Amino acid sequence: MAKKKKKKAGKSGAIDRTVLPQNILPKGERVEADKAVYIRRDVYREILRFSENKTERECGGVLVGYTVEALGKTNIILCGFIEAKFSEGTPTTLKFTHKSWEYIHAETAKRFPDLKIMGWIHTHPDFGVFLSEYDVFIQESVFSDENQVALVVDPIRREEGFYFWLNGRIERCKGYFLFDAPGVELRDEPPAEPVKVDPVRARLPAAAVCLLAAMAIAIAALISATLLLNNRLNDVQKQFRMLEDSANQAIAVLQQQMQSLYYQMNGFPSAPAASEETPSGETEPEETPADPAAPAGEEEGASETQQPDGGEEAQP
Ligand SMILES: [Zn+2]
Repeated sequence: MAKKKKKKAGKSGAIDRTVLPQNILPKGERVEADKAVYIRRDVYREILRFSENKTERECGGVLVGYTVEALGKTNIILCGFIEAKFSEGTPTTLKFTHKSWEYIHAETAKRFPDLKIMGWIHTHPDFGVFLSEYDVFIQESVFSDENQVALVVDPIRREEGFYFWLNGRIERCKGYFLFDAPGVELRDEPPAEPVKVDPVRARLPAAAVCLLAAMAIAIAALISATLLLNNRLNDVQKQFRMLEDSANQAIAVLQQQMQSLYYQMNGFPSAPAASEETPSGETEPEETPADPAAPAGEEEGASETQQPDGGEEAQP
């Protein structure tokens, strides 16, 4: 019974296979059967840690331990975990290869020489806790001993459940016991594990929300930029119109000045607008050269003399 190394099998030395673990914490429902399952708390935590990031494909390992016949029951005591390295996992299946069995047996001999393989554990990433037909086939062909169990862990939904043999059928074990060394405080684990559901799905909406928010910000920025551009365009248009108006005014003034100049150079009387602007002293001397052709007289007189002339020429 008492052998050498028991790193994982209990801190107090040799395993007493007649005594049940004393420091226990019941989990789940009370099991009315002639079997009970106990798992060491650090092994349980090790399995959860192992399963934690295995969300892409199934993975697994074996559980090692022993049995204690007590209280009219066969008590299955699980106190070690060995990963099934070199196994082949898909999203929905797990295959223990020849190489993985070699590894498992070597590890059992090295780390748990006085313990037996008491079952297996495998993951169901996001499809819940149950045994598929393939799982039942594995149980029947590989873990067919009446005291060998199955533990299924869903690392995404944070659920797990034991299965054990009852009356020749593999059945869900609705309750089990966590145990630890005597004197170590055993409290119910905080409900953080089951509450934190679906990290993968939770991340997706968060990313979508971030994306939407970024898009909304971009659209808002675009709209405000467009509004700003529109305002500037309006300002520019107003400025342009003002410039156009003042240019038109300047052109009008220039035209008037040119007209008056034209009149002055050609000896015509100034345009009314121009004559109003120019002082009378300037217009008079220029008008006099035009006058000498006509006999001395006033403008009115000249116009009177011309009209009769024109009238005579017109008449035959
Ligand atoms: Zn399965």
